[in-house]
Amino acid sequence: MKKTKFTESQIVAAIKKQESGIATKEICRELGISDATFYDWKAKYEDIYRPCMKKANGYFVISLDFELMWGVRDKVIKKTYGKNILGVQTVIPRLLETFNQHNIHATFATVGFLFYKNKKEMLDEFPSLLPNYHKHCLSPYGSYMETEVGSDYITDPYHFAPNLVQMIQDTSNHEIGTHTFSHYYCLEHGQNQASFKEDLCAAISVAKPKGINITSIVFPRNQVNENYLKTCHEMGIIAVRTNEKSWLYNARKSDNENKLRRCIRLADAYINLSGHHCYPVPARIKSIPIQIPSSRFLRPYNPHFNFFESLRLNRIKKSMTYAAKHNKVYHLWWHPHNFGINQDQNFAFLEKILKHYDYLNKCYGFSSITMSDLSRKA
Ligand SMILES: [Zn+2]
Repeated sequence: MKKTKFTESQIVAAIKKQESGIATKEICRELGISDATFYDWKAKYEDIYRPCMKKANGYFVISLDFELMWGVRDKVIKKTYGKNILGVQTVIPRLLETFNQHNIHATFATVGFLFYKNKKEMLDEFPSLLPNYHKHCLSPYGSYMETEVGSDYITDPYHFAPNLVQMIQDTSNHEIGTHTFSHYYCLEHGQNQASFKEDLCAAISVAKPKGINITSIVFPRNQVNENYLKTCHEMGIIAVRTNEKSWLYNARKSDNENKLRRCIRLADAYINLSGHHCYPVPARIKSIPIQIPSSRFLRPYNPHFNFFESLRLNRIKKSMTYAAKHNKVYHLWWHPHNFGINQDQNFAFLEKILKHYDYLNKCYGFSSITMSDLSRKA
């Protein structure tokens, strides 16, 4: 930085003025400096003007439901959604690169099927007890498996992803958790605790030979079944993502979901209807995993709502700031396939969130952490 005629206290006073809400332009005009000089000052003097910095203050959790076609196969078909799924092949390396640039530690809650290189290996390791959903379309076993699933990950990138799992594992920052073995629906009629236990057991077993110790879980469709938490704990799971504490987001069976709730949730992504959903580091409760509620689903870029993108971004940034300033947790989640199309727009949006994270990290010690690591702080 060039030598300046201003004293340190003048510089700190200018920065404080901006923090109090006075426009940067106005401050710069008064002092006769450029915006660039002001931001140079800000970068250099941050440690002086905010003595509370560097104290641990709040956590930023990112979890991704890594599922490919298994998470959507009963709702969409390849013809309409296949591009999103195939896009995941480039989304994962781009996410890892972006996360690396911002020193993000994420949890990739991964469907067990994705670990397999081929169908034969997968069929050999099916759980001994399968869920018997009343709604047959929910089961990936049986006819779907026979007709839709290809022979290996080279020919069928819709259902297998051992290459991507390996890529995540090769970066030391991140955690691989589970999104169950088969994208298992824990609140649906017909399945039960015994078949859930078998499913979870298979999810843990498929990861183990790769040296991956599964310790966190995200329940598919956010169907958090409180009666299953003890089973999770017994099987070594220490962290579970639960839902936002609001009637808008509580766990429900697919039959009980309604349009109105969906619409209000959509609006809540743009304007603050339901609060920040930030919370202190969760407390430990005996014999169940630590519950780490979601704060917000990161909706994918939608060209029809282009006009409202800044609202959507500000909604997230404001809640992150709130968490950082109040020593709370902010938990953002989405699916890699949400970024499968409109990738540049989605990554540009994420970049803005992560730049804000960098700022909060610097100013308030807000830090990125995986679900399991947060659970160890409880
Ligand atoms: Zn899912």
